[in-house]
Amino acid sequence: MNHDNSRSLYDRALSVSPGGVNSSVRAIRPFPFFIERGDGGSIIDADGNRYLDFVMGYGPLLLGHDMPESVRAAVQTRASDGPMYGAPTEVGVELAEFITRHVSGVEMLRFVNSGTEATVSAVRLARGHTGRDKIVVMQGGYHGAQESTLVEGSGSDTRPSSPGIPENFAEHTIAVPFNDEQALRQVFEAQGEEIAAVMTEPLLANYGIVLPEDGYLETIREITDAYGSLLIFDEVITGFRVGGLQCAQGKFGVTPDITTFAKVIGGGFPVGAIGGRAEIIENFTPAGEVFQSGTFSGHPVTMAAGLETLRYAAENDVYDHVNALGDQLRSGLTDIVADHAPQYTVVGTDSIFKILFTRTGPDGGDSQCKAGCRQNPDCSRYDHCPKDGADIAQAETERWERLFWPAMKDQGVFLTPNQFESQFISNAHTEEDIEQLLEAYKQALS
Ligand SMILES: *Cc1c(COP(=O)(O)O)cnc(C)c1O
Repeated sequence: MNHDNSRSLYDRALSVSPGGVNSSVRAIRPFPFFIERGDGGSIIDADGNRYLDFVMGYGPLLLGHDMPESVRAAVQTRASDGPMYGAPTEVGVELAEFITRHVSGVEMLRFVNSGTEATVSAVRLARGHTGRDKIVVMQGGYHGAQESTLVEGSGSDTRPSSPGIPENFAEHTIAVPFNDEQALRQVFEAQGEEIAAVMTEPLLANYGIVLPEDGYLETIREITDAYGSLLIFDEVITGFRVGGLQCAQGKFGVTPDITTFAKVIGGGFPVGAIGGRAEIIENFTPAGEVFQSGTFSGHPVTMAAGLETLRYAAENDVYDHVNALGDQLRSGLTDIVADHAPQYTVVGTDSIFKILFTRTGPDGGDSQCKAGCRQNPDCSRYDHCPKDGADIAQAETERWERLFWPAMKDQGVFLTPNQFESQFISNAHTEEDIEQLLEAYKQALS
């Protein structure tokens, strides 16, 4: 594969952008390939190389790179009618109506421009509504580039995980291991009256992927209710991706007080949203006192792209298609892993997937769950399956990044360039694409 054009573009980028990129995950070593354009389930780089794409913009592109005609027409119309106004539009109301109609925990919502902005506002809202300062997050959980959640450490012994954040910001953030009911109970017994909210992804989709054990989400719901704290589900990845139109909260049957969205709901354009029960969301200004505002919020082009994307998904069995491909893929990966790397763990659900390079597995015997780890206590791998962020951190990151990822790239497959981030199937992918992907995995792992 020739990468001359990408190499010289990166050379220019390094002079004008830190690390040559606008988001840190994009700084693939030794240098990233620059994208010329998308085509269905594939992307084409600046040197004309084509890759089957399972990054899909890190999640937003549920439909792949080609906008269906209805989405394209709506986007073009909105853009040519003048891109934005600083005044409300009908299309923003329609997207809000669509989301409130389908998601059980959302009666009202406020649109913003990114997942980070959504989680920042959600934390402020929870604090404003409860009059409490502390929030509980999961170790290894990611909620965007926000000061309150960029922490490391455990329990109340947390520190900022980045320079530039004052030490005492972390004093208000408590970190517990995902899937650990005991740790959560202890934290609430010690200081439950001071906790504004627990914020977590319903499954760790940004780190892992780790599914909740049976009953874990229900336990968080019970404990937060008992202490008058709020439950925030960060559905930035899982929203309109896992559980279809009802999102992960519908799939798992646990209703949070606040939900954050981003990625899929903008149809490929910058977006975020904070949704929840009306009495909570109405704390946002101007209805309430918790300040929240944004020049680009509810951007008409984004609203149109999001609305038409979700409508298209609702009317065209998109979730059936991508989830069936997900099952086909994860089952195939399970077979490949059994033959070539039995210690590795296939994870994922619906249209997200990953092979975690876990270091230990059971000695022979049963294989893993058929289409991705389900945290099944009866499975012979149960004791080896990652259950929290620390388990994920222990997997073989170097082997993944230095050997496996490049071997996939050389076969024309674009995966997320680190071990921790999900990969995504889009509606543009086909059964043949999945077969090709499986063949590439087989080559790279054997
Ligand atoms: C991507 C992501 C965010 C941040 O969203 P941005 O749009 O990148 O700011 C927050 N939470 C989760 C779970 C995410 O995956």
